[in-house]
Amino acid sequence: MSNELAQPVQRRSQWNGPVLATIIATMAAVLWLMGRTPWCKCGQLVPWSWTVQSMHNSQHLIDPYTFTHVLHGFIFFAALWPLRSRLTAPVRITIACVIEGLWEILENSPLIIERYRAATISLDYYGDSIANSVFDVLACLLGYAIASKLRWQTATMIFLAVEVTLLLTIRDSLLLNVIMLTFPMDAILQWQSGG
Ligand SMILES: [Zn+2]
Repeated sequence: MSNELAQPVQRRSQWNGPVLATIIATMAAVLWLMGRTPWCKCGQLVPWSWTVQSMHNSQHLIDPYTFTHVLHGFIFFAALWPLRSRLTAPVRITIACVIEGLWEILENSPLIIERYRAATISLDYYGDSIANSVFDVLACLLGYAIASKLRWQTATMIFLAVEVTLLLTIRDSLLLNVIMLTFPMDAILQWQSGG
């Protein structure tokens, strides 16, 4: 899936910054209208939070789950790559950004929040802060950018390494998150809750 420099002349940036910024700002506005909090209720201006089982998780800018959003970017790049002859790079990046923004809105809807609380280890989960959602989308775009620079073998290795690292450190990962959201399994929940 690597480099698009093969297309000769075009050296302009493939990142349509104003469009991406508008998408992210729109998402933030929708989240605000949905009543999401802008920042962690603790009020501390610490940019990150590394303790998953805490009130700060998904409330500051960066936390372990940020890495799952970087992986979203890998997946979007790979999924859109086959469409490269029909869709220009800026269009594909924009599509990825829109999907991620919509996911953030869905993820913070009462339906999904309830599902997380009922079926996963996220007992204290009451949605992301708006700042966290914005950084999740930026993390996704970062992942997209990284994936676009790599050979697919390298990208796959990094993807797996991030998943394994998350499993070992927080007993969760992108794959487990998807499984527990769609087909919750008791065995996994027990392992995740275990000390
Ligand atoms: Zn906090």
